[in-house]
Amino acid sequence: MNDLTCIIIGGGHAGLPALKAIKKETRGLANERGIRIVLIDKQPSHVRKVMLFRPAAGGEEIMIPWTHYLSEGVEFVQGTVISVDSGEKQIRYTDGQGKDICIRYDLLVVALGSIVRQPNLDQGGITLTDPQTAIDIRKRWRDNLRKAVSETNLKERKQLMTIAVAGAGISGIETSAELALAMKKKAASLGLDSFDVSVYLLNSQERLFPEGPEKIGQKLNQMLHECGVIVLHNRKALQEEAGVVTLDNGEHLTAGLCIWTIGLIPNPVLHGIGLPLTSDGQVMVDECYRVQGMSDVYSIGDCTKIVDPRTGKADQMTCKEGSMQALRLGKIVMADLEGRSAPVHKSMMEAFGIGLGENRGLVWVRKWNLDIVITGKLAWKLKKLAWDGASTLR
Ligand SMILES: Cc1cc2nc3c(=O)[nH]c(=O)nc-3n(C[C@H](O)[C@H](O)[C@H](O)COP(=O)(O)OP(=O)(O)OC[C@H]3O[C@@H](n4cnc5c(N)ncnc54)[C@H](O)[C@@H]3O)c2cc1C
Repeated sequence: MNDLTCIIIGGGHAGLPALKAIKKETRGLANERGIRIVLIDKQPSHVRKVMLFRPAAGGEEIMIPWTHYLSEGVEFVQGTVISVDSGEKQIRYTDGQGKDICIRYDLLVVALGSIVRQPNLDQGGITLTDPQTAIDIRKRWRDNLRKAVSETNLKERKQLMTIAVAGAGISGIETSAELALAMKKKAASLGLDSFDVSVYLLNSQERLFPEGPEKIGQKLNQMLHECGVIVLHNRKALQEEAGVVTLDNGEHLTAGLCIWTIGLIPNPVLHGIGLPLTSDGQVMVDECYRVQGMSDVYSIGDCTKIVDPRTGKADQMTCKEGSMQALRLGKIVMADLEGRSAPVHKSMMEAFGIGLGENRGLVWVRKWNLDIVITGKLAWKLKKLAWDGASTLR
């Protein structure tokens, strides 16, 4: 019998663990039938998206060459997928030379992910969207600090040493902490007073971390304060122009740089690709991640609406949920191939890990109705393990 071809579209934090899980689970396929896995991604390498703020602060490399993930039976194709034809069981993509190519599948996994939400162009500032904007952000604040060294006007110098981070979800919290620590270190090395560095985190809600209990939000507030971040609650940035950030309460903040971290939206390429979508633009699947109305097509990760059939709770756009879905998908695919009943989606326990710069972090887990909190070096180590797990580096 011929080998099965399983195509995975998207090598992000859900697609890569899915590749690993499917490879592992299908090892025991009957009739000596093998599986050929083809990973298709538009990027030249895997981007460790959960760590985007690391190159913005400290210049860390977050791209991993696809060759790291290739092994026997696994191939990589660089291309931008434009459509799925489930009738013909083929997908169409554009390669690096702009050529349209069709490729057939027996099984298809859609893991097209999300993109970072951006404000309108006239709202100014810079959004932390990808490795290039992270590099640009790092260059901007470092150039500003160098200019501050020779700036004699106190007000101007203060502005050059100030950053506003607009949006206080997990990525805004992590970005502001890492930036404050990196800027203080750089300022001191340039002979500036590190206490003159100001990083404002603008939170549109009345407290941090609405996903968990209030005391965790307060703890985060305190830990951010220790990193040198000033959190302003109930403040939404409206616009940045010429170094002045206008807030929705009429106040103004002068800052050398305004960075937007305002969340994620499902990948817009999904519109028109040929898959059934919810009104929010996510792929519609059943409780085993099978795309509605299409056979042998599965979808997981940020691009998918996945609901726990027992509780009605929908998964969020997080890599921890995407990784768990990927693990289950391996078992589902094997069960479907063998005609057995497949495992059903189940929400994971409430847990969050937040990195706040080298050796600082907070992990919160709710279990048996108890709030378990870990902070400091151990939390940081756990967070790093989670980052590595999300890119299947361990
Ligand atoms: C700054 C930041 C911090 C975050 N921190 C955390 C955190 O601490 N914890 C957490 O759980 N989550 C976090 N997240 C969310 C997490 O990154 C996402 O939930 C996760 O990346 C989702 O994985 P995914 O594979 O579904 O999508 P993605 O990681 O977005 O991967 C999608 C892949 O599809 C590829 N692709 C897109 N379009 C095409 C196309 N047309 N053709 C071919 N390939 C295509 C992309 O290149 C990409 O490789 C963070 C996100 C950001 C931006």
